Amino acid sequence: MRKDLMDILACPMCKSELELKIDEEEGDEVIKGSLTCAKCSEVYPIDDGIPNLLPPDLRKAAEAKSS
Ligand SMILES: [Zn+2]
Repeated sequence: MRKDLMDILACPMCKSELELKIDEEEGDEVIKGSLTCAKCSEVYPIDDGIPNLLPPDLRKAAEAKSS
């Protein structure tokens, strides 16, 4: 995801701002990392450049389905 996406991203749970943590980047793109909500402490992973902003419940359901 592009770093300037941070301007429009918000926590799906509480709509607060997210804090970006970068593990791997390429120019303006974040390849791997995480987005942490400062308010509810929920962590959303970024994998292969795609932020996973599903609420935790839905994310667990999706993971259970795909495995
Ligand atoms: Zn939140």
